[in-house]
Amino acid sequence: MNLGIAGKKALVCASSKGLGKGCALALAEAGVDLVLNARGAEALEKTAEEIRSRFQVNVTAVAADITTDEGRANVLDVAGHIDILVTNAGGPPPGMWSDWERDDFIAAIDANMLTPITLIKSVLPGMMDQGWGRIVNITSQSVRAPIPQLGLSNSARAGLTGYVAGTSRQVAPHGVTINNLLPGIHATDRAISLDGKVAADTGITMDEAKSAREATIPARRYGTLEDFGATCAFMCSQHAGFMVGQNVLLDGGATNMTM
Ligand code: NAP
Repeated sequence: MNLGIAGKKALVCASSKGLGKGCALALAEAGVDLVLNARGAEALEKTAEEIRSRFQVNVTAVAADITTDEGRANVLDVAGHIDILVTNAGGPPPGMWSDWERDDFIAAIDANMLTPITLIKSVLPGMMDQGWGRIVNITSQSVRAPIPQLGLSNSARAGLTGYVAGTSRQVAPHGVTINNLLPGIHATDRAISLDGKVAADTGITMDEAKSAREATIPARRYGTLEDFGATCAFMCSQHAGFMVGQNVLLDGGATNMTM
């Protein structure tokens, strides 16, 4: 399918690895020029070079912490005008409800609620002026069904989801869509680290931890970067102009619910 976005420019945050990289690859395949971001310059430049060598698009890499004021300012300054924004950052650490104090919640809210909101506020005027824009926030299945050990994620991402629900309807008249993409378990470093925590806590091997989690997914596998990137690219495409304020769950059927 021709996504109709060749020649547009996207900022994909936290994209040297994992789900952000999956989105960047799929947008590049659709002909979109990219601004990539991550904290670690080496992995970021490697990903940028991989994308340049595979697709005929311009790729700019900005090494910065997207959860800080300085990092965001740097990324937005280098990016300039963009047509597509994909927000993403590392997720909060796992634990239990009794572990977290005010500072832990503030850090999670900063990274996974206020960072995307600040980025959205920064790019909306330019998108609204030109009458076209696409914003996709990478959130989590935890906004649909809470994950007990990820209470910080459950909380901070719920706040972003509420903001998007209201704001998306205010900017849709200007041709700008904002939607959330909710990953279930995908095969990334983040998933490996969560498997490692389960293995360490329960005394089983990493493979056993992975198999046990795969058994809970009706699709019987972890999602791939390709699954995730293709869905994101569609949500950024010309075809998705009528999709407003939605929470698209990509979890292999793991969340047991009717709607
Ligand atoms: P990942 O494999 O660990 O990749 C994270 C990427 O984000 C890396 O490129 C990392 O590079 C970059 N990054 C992290 N913190 C950053 C920051 N402060 N500023 C800029 N870049 C940053 O993670 P992932 O699995 O793709 O997960 C992405 C998001 O989806 C996370 O919020 C995660 O909680 C959520 N999620 C993931 C899954 C899953 O199964 N994978 C499921 C539900 C939700 P640097 O470290 O070099 O900065």
